Amino acid sequence: MAGGWARDGAVSEQIEASISDELARMQAQKQPVGESLTHCAECEEPIPEKRRLARPGVKLCLDCQQERDGAFKARGGVNRRGSKDSQLK
Ligand SMILES: [Zn+2]
Repeated sequence: MAGGWARDGAVSEQIEASISDELARMQAQKQPVGESLTHCAECEEPIPEKRRLARPGVKLCLDCQQERDGAFKARGGVNRRGSKDSQLK
């Protein structure tokens, strides 16, 4: 990680915690997790066969997947604001 923003101990600690949390989320999403489910693991909606073929090991329907992606992006926004703030110091 490059950047002068790593000076502030408290802020960088917070950012590192968010980054490792996001990495864990990304790995959880990317990891091949065996066979695709026929029904969503969260809401139990049927997952279309087309989606199961396109995303091997898929566990979520499109709605639940988009919900997760949205939560992921929101966390990224928090990070960006944090690093910009410390650049001003
Ligand atoms: Zn679902």
